[in-house]
Amino acid sequence: MKENALCKGLAPFFLDMMRWWIIVFLAGLGQLPAAPSADSSPELRKLAKESADIHRFSTLFTAQDVRDHLSSEAGLAEAIQWCQASGVTKVYLEESRDGYQAERPTLARARDSFRAGGLVASGCVTTSRVGKPSDHWGSYISCYTDPATQDRVQSSFEYAASLFDEIMIDDFWFTECTCSNCTAARRARLVTVGPKTYPVSGDTWADYHCELMLRVSQDRVLAAAKRVNPQARLIIKYPKWYEKFQDRGYDVVRETAAFDRIWVGTETRDYTDREWGGTPQYSGYFLMRWLGGIGGEKCGGGWFDWLGTSERTYVEQARQTVLGGAHETMLYCFGGIQHGADIGALRANLPELLAVAGEVRRREPEGIAVYKPPNSSPQEEPHVWDFVGMIGLPLAPYHEFPTNAPAAFLSVQALADPHLAEELGGFIAARRPVLLTDGLARRLTGLVNLTATNVSVLPVGGQPKSLLDLPQTRLDDLRVPLLGAFHASFRAPNRVALYLFTHGGWVVENFNDAPVEVVLNGQRLNVEARGWRWHWQ
Ligand SMILES: [Zn+2]
Repeated sequence: MKENALCKGLAPFFLDMMRWWIIVFLAGLGQLPAAPSADSSPELRKLAKESADIHRFSTLFTAQDVRDHLSSEAGLAEAIQWCQASGVTKVYLEESRDGYQAERPTLARARDSFRAGGLVASGCVTTSRVGKPSDHWGSYISCYTDPATQDRVQSSFEYAASLFDEIMIDDFWFTECTCSNCTAARRARLVTVGPKTYPVSGDTWADYHCELMLRVSQDRVLAAAKRVNPQARLIIKYPKWYEKFQDRGYDVVRETAAFDRIWVGTETRDYTDREWGGTPQYSGYFLMRWLGGIGGEKCGGGWFDWLGTSERTYVEQARQTVLGGAHETMLYCFGGIQHGADIGALRANLPELLAVAGEVRRREPEGIAVYKPPNSSPQEEPHVWDFVGMIGLPLAPYHEFPTNAPAAFLSVQALADPHLAEELGGFIAARRPVLLTDGLARRLTGLVNLTATNVSVLPVGGQPKSLLDLPQTRLDDLRVPLLGAFHASFRAPNRVALYLFTHGGWVVENFNDAPVEVVLNGQRLNVEARGWRWHWQ
């Protein structure tokens, strides 16, 4: 990132502006959320196809979409045309959802038709309303301790594997069931899957649910699917609610090791939406990068939807997915995005998103190391990184202690690491800048040198969202030592995010509804409302 400080002089900005205008010209489009003209479809289709190795856009036909949209020749032709006009080059055709199983002839014909139309076609299973309901979440989520439910899961995946070599699992693959059978098994510290039993390492619900979901995954999903189709590759899609993974049985380390690929929920939606709000946009980036670090090459892409979004936040979800290094963006789902303006906004921005994806994929992210150990509890600081990213601190998420990072920000989740005090003590002694939440600093009093001049404390007060109210003067001061470790400086109002990449790459994204002026490495930049600027060398 040292080169990033080099954005001095006008040449990079002329190049930046030229790239921007070329992209806009090629797209034949102007500003978000303009709908594409009919003439833009062939160009978009060609661009999407040419860019597919770098980043592709895909969509899901739920089992109900398969039934409702793909049962007739006319419906199939219309769906294929829509995908091509939207820059979508891959589809997931779902076998089952909510207790409904799509019919084999319909799935097989749709699969073959999409492939004949030049698209990639894979399968999907959503494990909602499968067998015995959990005593939490109503009937949507199941009790996987129940042997008959395990059998139904197995038959669902056998069916999918008989049709497809790649199968996505939507993020209903969890449980919070505490029924009497689950309670007895938890107390006995024993998971039973068919004739096999597996010990559980502890007696908490998180211990039991994680062991249960791992073992049912191995025996009733992965092994079952691969017996039917040895080519079958299974993708586990992790939800966006990452702070609760362990409580609901998503063990991201062991499940990622077990599955062939992983996927990431980046559906942040409108922060102020009454029903769906509360997640800031930066969360999509954080989670893509954190799970990307755990999954490595297994990490395939991100997934978001249209629920609780405006055109602007819909496109921001795509930006965060791309900035997070995804290889693919999955648009959930065909039936849902047929109405409303979101898809028009995305089409208008697709050339730009693909161009940025190409630059991001050539680089590594750089930034202040943030540390979330897998299965760590958020205590009073849930999703704190999502908000810290929104205040203009460029973050580099880690799932292991970032021993060699130039600067670090740590929160209470780090306490899940039994060696934290020793590791952090060494980091502080190395004189690198460290920012701690007040919650973590309080718990580390007497254990590490909190009075060292390279340590500062962020007042979270158990309310991470309160960070969005910090004034610019406070933020500008806060950034100085941390960005100094990267030979960079950034002055900006709240809700303006900074992303740093190797080889001098940077992106500034403004999440405010008004234009802002920022100063990055001494250069003034104007960023339009809900817009972004970037620079690549
Ligand atoms: Zn149960």
